[in-house]
Amino acid sequence: MSQIDDLPPLRDVIATHQLSARKALGQNFLLDLNLTARIARIPGDLSGMDVLEVGPGPGGLTRGLLSEGARRVLAIEKDSRCLPALAEIGQACPGRLEVIEGDALEIDPLAHLTPPIAICANLPYNVGTELLTRWLTPSDWPPFWSSLTLMFQKEVAERIVAQPGSKAYGRLAILSQWRCDARIALTLPPGAFTPPPKVSSAVVHLTALPEPRFPAQHKLLERVVATAFNQRRKMLRSSLKGLAPDIEERLNAVGIPPTERAEQVGLEAFCALARTFET
Ligand code: SAM
Repeated sequence: MSQIDDLPPLRDVIATHQLSARKALGQNFLLDLNLTARIARIPGDLSGMDVLEVGPGPGGLTRGLLSEGARRVLAIEKDSRCLPALAEIGQACPGRLEVIEGDALEIDPLAHLTPPIAICANLPYNVGTELLTRWLTPSDWPPFWSSLTLMFQKEVAERIVAQPGSKAYGRLAILSQWRCDARIALTLPPGAFTPPPKVSSAVVHLTALPEPRFPAQHKLLERVVATAFNQRRKMLRSSLKGLAPDIEERLNAVGIPPTERAEQVGLEAFCALARTFET
């Protein structure tokens, strides 16, 4: 571990390898190693775990994950300019860092990982929600990962942990909380990043439940929820009428007033409604 501590400060790494931030790649770097170590501690004890990191950039969080004792880190980075900096980290901890150059949306990391697996990343904003949605909707549950520790724009983080009755509550909250415990673990101001983004950020920590919180078929729940929130201001009896002619009876049967709006309805009730569509 001490060899990681001997690596140069990240500002020097960025200067040496000329890693000027590229907006198109969502590059807002974390250069404070105390902060990256703090983020790396959020998933808990990493010894004996493989960690998947998307977008390591110059490697601040990668260093944190390795210093915190991750068995191995698999880092997927699209920007080839970052590879020499990451290679230096790999040399400081032989056999524990594998870097794949490429687009995380196109690479299947599973062949490179051994369970138990944690995912920890300061995600590029342009692909963050797409990756989260994929990780939350595998064909089988439990998924290949046991926890997700992910940086998002604060507004997205709030949508993940939102409760019924709040403006942020919607499809992302239901998808996240149906099969995970989800909490905001850390909020960061724009100034924590180089260059600073326009908005605040937050790290969300999700742990996979062994089974969904309430029974439902995934595809049916998705369909009901997507339809309900598509017209979130409408009463459910109107927004859902395309799903079934007898929607009002179904809503009544599961105890949801047909005049209710989607944002007032809890996860358990949405799961019950989805179950009425099972054949
Ligand atoms: N982890 C570093 C940190 O905390 O300082 C960098 C975080 S920066 C917000 C996002 C990183 O993701 C950048 O290094 C960027 O090049 C990389 N990236 C952007 N799109 C990507 C993609 N589709 N697949 C893999 N990496 C990507």
